[in-house]
Amino acid sequence: MILVLNSGASDEQIAHVVSHVEALGLSAHVSRGTYRTIVGIIGDEDKTREQPLQAIPGVAEVIPVLPPFKLASRDAHPQASIVDVSGVKIGGGNLAMIAGPCSVEEPDRMERIAAAIKASGANILRGGAYKPRTSPYAFQGMGEEGLRVLRDTGRKFRLPVVTEITDPRNVELVAQYADLIQIGARNMQNFVLLTEVGKTRRPVLLKRGMAASVNDLLMSAEYILSQGNSEVVLCERGIRSFDNATRNLFDVAAVPLVKRLSHLPIIVDPSHATGRPDLIPACALAGLAAGADGVHIEVHDCPQVAKSDGPQALIPSQYHELMAQMRKLAGLFDKRISLVPE
Ligand code: PEP
Ligand code: MN
Repeated sequence: MILVLNSGASDEQIAHVVSHVEALGLSAHVSRGTYRTIVGIIGDEDKTREQPLQAIPGVAEVIPVLPPFKLASRDAHPQASIVDVSGVKIGGGNLAMIAGPCSVEEPDRMERIAAAIKASGANILRGGAYKPRTSPYAFQGMGEEGLRVLRDTGRKFRLPVVTEITDPRNVELVAQYADLIQIGARNMQNFVLLTEVGKTRRPVLLKRGMAASVNDLLMSAEYILSQGNSEVVLCERGIRSFDNATRNLFDVAAVPLVKRLSHLPIIVDPSHATGRPDLIPACALAGLAAGADGVHIEVHDCPQVAKSDGPQALIPSQYHELMAQMRKLAGLFDKRISLVPE
């Protein structure tokens, strides 16, 4: 931590800052410049983070040296992490291709969609059984029955499954059915949920909140990691903006930025980021080109009857075409779409 003192800081104030820092069991290194004096604090930065150092008379600014997400940071772990979702690897050159309907629907439909996405090369099947909806009157998901349908469909087509959790009371239940547990945008800062999911050893897909900074996202990942669960995959799914031409604003720069700051894999979700099937392919490819470790896309065989997010779903033939393009791009960057173990 570095303390920048006021330009007029007196010798007494400097001495007081030093003795305050030493009283915390840390040492202080004073550096006097022509206009400003700075005090470098040497020692455990976590100890100082909790202290209201800005309130010491004479202190103008407190500048941390290390990021506050120490387990998620690249400093802690220079190598890219690879998350294993029932044999499907994500990160370190391995791409997750997650596809499926927004909500889990009836078994026949799930089977049709799963067969199609599998044939196109997807390696994880998605579907929400518990849906966080803006309206309490909107379809809320099939609940445990949906979890069963999703798991059975995944088994039949040899695809690991990802589904969203919305309630900390359901952690055990969802962990029984899901290979990858999704925490959605609306719950990215539900700290109780993050903590409970962190206590499991199931991989977690953590989506960026719609008004969350990159720092907020990494701090939420830190909640999960700090409980001992190191299997975290991040997801950029668009943030709110003033412009409603697209559902959200796809923050593609967040992908290389997260990769600089963290060792955790990050995938993109152009379905929720744009809300428009005509824009999804370009944004999926942009995400991969920016270094994403996978792409998450909503696919439905008949979007006009979908229980949720029908207007943004790709139909299987569109997904098939996009997968062919994504495969080419992956090859260009020397990445592979992780195969599902037989
Ligand atoms: C979803 O994946 O269907 C979903 C609700 O996503 P998000 O949390 O990104 O809105
Ligand atoms: Mn959706």
